[in-house]
Amino acid sequence: MTTPPPGTTSSASFTFDLDAEEVWLAEDPTASRRPVLLSQGAYGPRVGLPAVLGLLRAHGVRATFFVPGRVAETYPAAVESVLEAGHEVAHHGHTHRAPAELSLDEEVDEFERGLAALRHVGVVPTGYRAPSWDFSPHTLGLVADHGFDYSSNFMDEVRPYVHPSRDVVELPVHWTLDDAAHYWFAADTWTKKISTNGEVEQIMVAEADGIAAMHGCAVYTLHPQIIGRPGRLPLLDELLRRAASDPSVWVATAAEIAAHTRKQES
Ligand SMILES: [Zn+2]
Repeated sequence: MTTPPPGTTSSASFTFDLDAEEVWLAEDPTASRRPVLLSQGAYGPRVGLPAVLGLLRAHGVRATFFVPGRVAETYPAAVESVLEAGHEVAHHGHTHRAPAELSLDEEVDEFERGLAALRHVGVVPTGYRAPSWDFSPHTLGLVADHGFDYSSNFMDEVRPYVHPSRDVVELPVHWTLDDAAHYWFAADTWTKKISTNGEVEQIMVAEADGIAAMHGCAVYTLHPQIIGRPGRLPLLDELLRRAASDPSVWVATAAEIAAHTRKQES
């Protein structure tokens, strides 16, 4: 369904960043020589993704997967399994280097290589999420100039909107609905405790309910290597159940919500 069913007053989109090893490769120059470090990312396409797809199927929810180009090259079968299940695949850079840390030439190269890699596996993405949501001053222009319909990176609203400076729909995000913010373990410092599902559920449900009360869109930013851990899948199950069983919430892909936003604002 591409338009909100009658009676819905807010929306929700389950988005998954299929980063695999690329987060570690982008952050740590020694990572390519550290197979155990990288194996944390390999868990995503290998174990996390099939489990996530199973839960989405069980709840009849179609989701959006943001995939770096290099992940599409390394794991074409994983991307194929996402597409076969009827989900959306969108652009998430080529490597996982954040645009804000790149020169303009490097950023253009990353954007176009990522796009080419997705097209190579049969995907024509209409949405873009920057690695780490970290735009440079040029990123929004690049997204618009490549004909993309939407971005899902900014934190300045809870309702989707069209950027005033560019013809790009924004589906706003926030750390509260990001599994990484709650579960990421900083192995270099050991200072950050891993949250319990109860803590994360409390934070996410409060935020999603608040967004619904404001007639906004709850954009969950999840990662198969994080939410797909065995002990956390029950939380995803519950978040999907809550959203999918609420007749006032339109649960849809990011592209569908972006298309609807554009229609409303035109
Ligand atoms: Zn990512």
